[in-house]
Amino acid sequence: MRVTYQFVKDSFDKFNKLCFEGVLPIIPIRLTEARTFLGKVTYKSRKDFFGLNISNEDFVLSVSTSFDLPENELEDVVLHEMIHYYLAWRGIRDTSVHGDAFKKMMETINLKYGRHINIRHRIEEDQPGSVDVRYRANYICVSQLEDGNWGITVSATTRIFELNRELPRYYRLKSMTWYGSIDPYFNTYPRCKTPKIYGISKEELDAHLVDATLLKCDGHTICPA
Ligand SMILES: [Zn+2]
Repeated sequence: MRVTYQFVKDSFDKFNKLCFEGVLPIIPIRLTEARTFLGKVTYKSRKDFFGLNISNEDFVLSVSTSFDLPENELEDVVLHEMIHYYLAWRGIRDTSVHGDAFKKMMETINLKYGRHINIRHRIEEDQPGSVDVRYRANYICVSQLEDGNWGITVSATTRIFELNRELPRYYRLKSMTWYGSIDPYFNTYPRCKTPKIYGISKEELDAHLVDATLLKCDGHTICPA
């Protein structure tokens, strides 16, 4: 048989109750015609300002309709992906893609429920996909100009101290404050190597600094204030 949306959904619900104590949150299911994998769980890793993982989110379970396999093997494919999902969702670091944590869960489920989940699919092995492009850490200098207007400079990481010194020489500033932020909004600004301030309204600025980290810069070091 070939998988259908209903088959994947029913298998997910059944094994979630049976093998995962029903703890797995509902996951969006996508059918693909991929010939390079049977199943795949993808998600985004959200990192904090220091580059450490804080959570995985936006999980999607993709299953290929290109393979004609017995029903129990297709169920094992869904189960295999559910183990990846469980580990990523719980934030459990494994020793490799199918490392000790994966194998332990796989063997427990196989033994307890008479399944035959394996880690060598008949075709190219799946890779649980983790993409991290949106959450880039930015160093932002927020300035208030003498006329009362606000501006920001997203600094190239190699130019922080230079800009810290140069900005007040090029502009008449009332104040200057450094922040670290992973808000993707700041990715839309050029990373400056030379002193340049981009005007921004106070409302827009405040909205995007909500989760920012206040930094202090003494001219030689920059760290959380
Ligand atoms: Zn796998």
